[in-house]
Amino acid sequence: MKIRKRINGIILFAGTIVVSSIFITAYYRHNIVKKEIVQAAVVEGNIKQEAIDNSAQSNVSLTESINEELKLDKNAYDAGPIQDFISKNIKINDGKKIVFLTFDDGPSTTVTPKVLEVLKKNDIKATFFIVGKELEKDPRAKQILLDTYKQGNSIGNHTYTHIYNNLYPGGKVDADKFMAELDKNNDAIREVLGQDFRSRIVRFPGGHMSWKGVDETDKRFYDRGYKYIDWNGLVGDAEGKPKSKEQLLERYRQTFKNQQKLVLLMHDTYGKENTAEVLPEIIADLKNKGYEFKTLK
Ligand SMILES: [Zn+2]
Repeated sequence: MKIRKRINGIILFAGTIVVSSIFITAYYRHNIVKKEIVQAAVVEGNIKQEAIDNSAQSNVSLTESINEELKLDKNAYDAGPIQDFISKNIKINDGKKIVFLTFDDGPSTTVTPKVLEVLKKNDIKATFFIVGKELEKDPRAKQILLDTYKQGNSIGNHTYTHIYNNLYPGGKVDADKFMAELDKNNDAIREVLGQDFRSRIVRFPGGHMSWKGVDETDKRFYDRGYKYIDWNGLVGDAEGKPKSKEQLLERYRQTFKNQQKLVLLMHDTYGKENTAEVLPEIIADLKNKGYEFKTLK
């Protein structure tokens, strides 16, 4: 009887030890995991904060360097109010009639040099929205981009590939892909114009107005100091079948409505020879109407 009692006591004691150690281990494990989660959250929080700091910094430094350029370049006009005027109809009351000639999808070896020649003859500057992929097509394209820049024109970003399905799957902007294309395009342009080159102006292929889901890119544009530039006039050189010179002029006249700030959409890529051909006439018409020619920065 005594022995049985002792055995029972030992079993009870051992049981208590086992159960307690299970609880103690579980408690410590829980705390370690909890600690790791807390640490991970802290690390992630730091990274997030760093990302916010970096984007705020890049916003400030990009805006500062563009503001410096605006002071020095008498042909340049602040892209910020133009973005808001074209996209949100926020009026600019400086009483000035200004036209921004804009050329997309280049550079090309066939049309861009002709456009540059016309601009030079008229002693005016324009804005070129570059597609980086075009720089790979012909070894002369890089030199043409450099010529465009050195002539005093403004250089903007029109994405690296311009492929709608990549940028806007299902008609909705893929913000990650879109921003990655802008970065890649910036690298390609800097390789030609120098690492100090900065630009904050972007034209969405097809126009910012044409796509769903722009909220996320709008937010990232704001963080990075980018401006998107749509248009309020055009010559129709990318609409439907190629147009004759007279058809291009007709389309220009249709969309001209005495805009106080006119952003005119044109293209200087392959096959747009007629755009270069009608350009002198369009410039003459706008000069007659009292427009100043400026670039967007
Ligand atoms: Zn385009």
